[in-house]
Amino acid sequence: MTTLYGVVDIGGTKTLIGIATENEIIETIYLKTSDLKSPEMLIDTLVEEFDKLISQSNYKDEVLKSVGISVPGPLNREEGIIHFTGNLNWSNFPIIEYLQKKMNQIPVIIDDDANAAGIGEAVYGAGRSYKNQIYVTISTGIGGAIVIDGQIYRGSRDLAGEIGHMTVVPDGPPCSCGNFGCLEALASGTAITQKGQQILIQEQSKILSKIVGQKTLTAEMIFEAVRQGDKACYSIIQQVCRYLGIGLANLVQIFNPETIILGGGIMNQSSLLIPKIETEMNNHLFKVQRGHVNIELASLNGQSGLWGALHLAKNHIASKERE
Ligand SMILES: [Zn+2]
Repeated sequence: MTTLYGVVDIGGTKTLIGIATENEIIETIYLKTSDLKSPEMLIDTLVEEFDKLISQSNYKDEVLKSVGISVPGPLNREEGIIHFTGNLNWSNFPIIEYLQKKMNQIPVIIDDDANAAGIGEAVYGAGRSYKNQIYVTISTGIGGAIVIDGQIYRGSRDLAGEIGHMTVVPDGPPCSCGNFGCLEALASGTAITQKGQQILIQEQSKILSKIVGQKTLTAEMIFEAVRQGDKACYSIIQQVCRYLGIGLANLVQIFNPETIILGGGIMNQSSLLIPKIETEMNNHLFKVQRGHVNIELASLNGQSGLWGALHLAKNHIASKERE
C-alpha cells in the first residue's frame, strides 16, 4: 500500500494541484485561479481534480491520507482561516473546515506561500544539504522564510519571516504595508517597474521607450533594455541589487545561515542579479563571514510551494500519530 498526499499551491494567477507519494509528486494540473470565482468553487474543483489525478495514476485504489495547501495572504494556521488575499477578494474563509466537509474529515494543513516555498526548497530543493537557511522570493512583492535546524521559524505570533518589510532606507518610498523604505518598496518587481516608469516619463532611455512601444511596461522589459546596453536601466538594477544585498547582509548578521535561497519571477534574471547581490552583501558583513554564505537559486522550477505542501501534509500526519 502506498501513502498518497494531496498537495496544492494557490497563487494569485494560477493554482497548482497535485498528488504525491512520500518522496515524489506524481501527477499535477494547473488551473487559472481567476476562473475559480469563489473560494468555495476552488475547493469544489480541488476535490474533483484530486479524484481525476488519482484515477489517472498507478494508485487508483488509494485514498489521500492528508492534504497540504500553500495559500496566499495572511492566515490563521491553527484555525485554518485565510483572512484575506490581495487579488482574490477572499475574506476570512475557513478553508480547512470547508475542505474537510467535502473530503470526509481528511487531515488538512495550510501555510502561507512564502513559508511553504521556503520549506519546500529546504527539504527537497536547493537547500536540502543545509540545516540553517533563509529563503527569499522576489516577484511582485518580496517574501521569505527562515529555516532553523530544518524547521520554519515562526516567531511569537506566527509573523516571522516578513523579509520584504524590513526597513532598508529610512523615509524611503511608501510600502503597501504602510511603512516607508521597506525592502519590498525598493527592490520588488513592482518597485523595478515603478522606477522604469519614471525613466519613461523623463524620457531618459530611447532603448526602453522602443522596447515598451504601445505595451504596458514590465520588469522583464527593463532587463531587456539592460541586455541592449541601456545605462539608465542598468543603474536601476544596480540600485535594486544594492538594496537586496543590504537586506540579505542584515539577515546573515542576525541568523548566520549556511545559505540563502532566492526564488520568484525576478530570479529568472539570476545570472545578472546574483553576482551583484552577493558582492553588495559581502560588503556589509563581518570579514569572517565574507564568502561563507552562498546565495543559491531555488531549484524546484516554480513548484517550491507544492513540494512545501507535501512536507506539510506528511509532517501533519507524523505529528498526529505522535499525539
Ligand atoms: Zn512594507
